[in-house]
Amino acid sequence: MLARFLIWSLLLLVVWRALRSLFSGIVQGASAPRPPQPAPPEKGELMVRDPVCGTFVLPSRAVSLRDRSGTHYFCSDRCRQAYQQR
Ligand SMILES: [Zn+2]
Repeated sequence: MLARFLIWSLLLLVVWRALRSLFSGIVQGASAPRPPQPAPPEKGELMVRDPVCGTFVLPSRAVSLRDRSGTHYFCSDRCRQAYQQR
């Protein structure tokens, strides 16, 4: 009776640990590459307009692209790609 109880509790512990490691692995996999926190904006920095979606962005935080007409700033890589494909 006692031996059976011990075996069951051991089994449950093993199963619980396996499930927990599996679950934490899934959670870590989903949020593993955490983007670094954006730096605080520099004082007096002027915001520039993203020519694709119209969002105002800070040049120090924005995605930039240089071309013949100058440097452009975008809110995201997606906007930069959209601009390049025009
Ligand atoms: Zn944008």
